[in-house]
Amino acid sequence: MSENINTNDNKESVNFIQKIINDDIKNRKYDARVQTRFPPEPNGYLHIGHAKSICLNYSLAMKNNGKFNLRFDDTNPVKEDESYVKSIVDDIKWLCPKWDGHALYASDYFDKMYECAVELIKKGLAYVDDLTAEEMREYRGTLTEPGKNSPYRNRSIEENLELFENMRLDKYKNGEKILRAKIDMSSPNINMRDPAIYRIMHEYHHNTKDKWCIYPMYDFAHPIEDAYEGVTHSVCTLEFEDHRPFYDWVLAHLDEFKDEPTQQIEFAKLYLSKTMMGKRYLKRMVEEGYVDGWDDPRMPTVAGIRRRGYTVEALYRFLDDIGVSKSQSQVDISMLENAVREDLKEKSPRTMAVLDPIKVIITNYPEDQVEYLEAQNNPENETMGKRQIPFSREIYIERGDFMEEPPKKYFRLYPGNEVRLRHAYFIKCEDFKKDENGNVTEVYCTYDPETKSGSGFKGRKVKSTMHWVDANNCIDATVRLYDYMMENEDYDKTNFLEKLNPNSKVVLENCKLEKNINEHKVGDRFQFLRHGYFIIDRDSTDNHFVFNQIVSLKSSYK
Ligand code: ATP
Ligand code: MG
Repeated sequence: MSENINTNDNKESVNFIQKIINDDIKNRKYDARVQTRFPPEPNGYLHIGHAKSICLNYSLAMKNNGKFNLRFDDTNPVKEDESYVKSIVDDIKWLCPKWDGHALYASDYFDKMYECAVELIKKGLAYVDDLTAEEMREYRGTLTEPGKNSPYRNRSIEENLELFENMRLDKYKNGEKILRAKIDMSSPNINMRDPAIYRIMHEYHHNTKDKWCIYPMYDFAHPIEDAYEGVTHSVCTLEFEDHRPFYDWVLAHLDEFKDEPTQQIEFAKLYLSKTMMGKRYLKRMVEEGYVDGWDDPRMPTVAGIRRRGYTVEALYRFLDDIGVSKSQSQVDISMLENAVREDLKEKSPRTMAVLDPIKVIITNYPEDQVEYLEAQNNPENETMGKRQIPFSREIYIERGDFMEEPPKKYFRLYPGNEVRLRHAYFIKCEDFKKDENGNVTEVYCTYDPETKSGSGFKGRKVKSTMHWVDANNCIDATVRLYDYMMENEDYDKTNFLEKLNPNSKVVLENCKLEKNINEHKVGDRFQFLRHGYFIIDRDSTDNHFVFNQIVSLKSSYK
């Protein structure tokens, strides 16, 4: 399946990043080599926004016969949690089928980063500062006012080397000293006002353990990680645009990297309507029990959409539809759902499923007879073949497909009316039975043997075709229907928990499905006629199926 991802699209419009790459290849920059990466912090599950970045980086590498790396950005020892590493690796495997499976860690380059810091000190481009964090803030200035130089800015190279060495040798407390780049305290870009590059942190690191008590700052570490790995195009989101001058500055001043520094290219983040995205908000939904875990099918996590039944091909189709740009905007979630429908249309066999069953007895059908009717598995894709569906005297139809007293324009089953059963016969409603509460329990019909599906019967027309399941040859299943977690757009980061849709998950326990579902396994997808697309969930057991709704048939269908 995943081999078929269309990363080699022949679309005429090439995104702006590919244009930059085309020029670089033409000019033989980086020896015409392309290498990209995705650098997550292992502090949560990935969401569909991350997927945009991953698929973009991966596709750019694949389209240009290049290389794509997953590199964990684990430079901050207090923020990481190893349990997230596994989920991220699983997600990347799913999204990037040709990825080499080898995860890299920024912390493996700590020695290199230390050397780079020493090189900058030796060049007079970095100094150890004794200002407190608060003093540093005061000295930094504001957007409208320049900063001022620290009194420690003019320490000699020797003194700085010694102090930095002492930082590493655990001679100071947290915050007592910090290593800063020496650039320009009056730069209009605050990121260039002598940014911190190494800080003292007495923290255990999951990878390097107790080896370090100083850790590099993200903005200093990142360009070194990229360049050291051989990344050519470091693609990231727009909030890093103001950090690019420092990214470039770091590489421009390191001998090993200055000749062909990695270039940073920014694009706009993906935002989806009706979707709360940031990791920390998703974490609250999980930890406070609003959803059934990170891979709850309602979650916009990669694990969630995978369990929901979205295909990776559909995701690439969606990303292709929305493109890559420099301007921030929100994408309507219906575009994603449409891509899923388009993808599943030809891939998923049709089947009949009655989600809210009511029994129909066909009074003129022989009692012990079962006949098998032929049905096409997918009218959009003949290669999916045909199946035989059992039919007998008792069947189930949807409760909503029968009415005792129909309103105008109701063409389904009601006393005296005739309808077509898909793949079977015409049936006419003769009578029905109710229980003591007034609920209809059984509907009695007669069938017309002349009207068998495929027989070419042209005698009369009916206005409705209904799905059904043979009551004597079917299976019971649980079906979960899903709606958006955020129904409207009237929420923000502070109140989203109060605005969650209370009906985002509806569990139907008594659904009736065609018996041949028995031949299928977890992960198989179907179109339930008239209901939408569904996937067999991993909660299924040997004798009971659980299905998740992937997407309805039409955007308006509820
Ligand atoms: P969040 O804001 O959801 O917590 P993050 O940006 O903190 O996400 P990281 O692990 O730091 O998550 O980011 C990894 C990469 O994913 C970064 O390069 C970031 O630019 C990218 N990314 C994060 N959110 C989106 C998004 N909505 N669309 C595209 N790329 C994104
Ligand atoms: Mg973050």
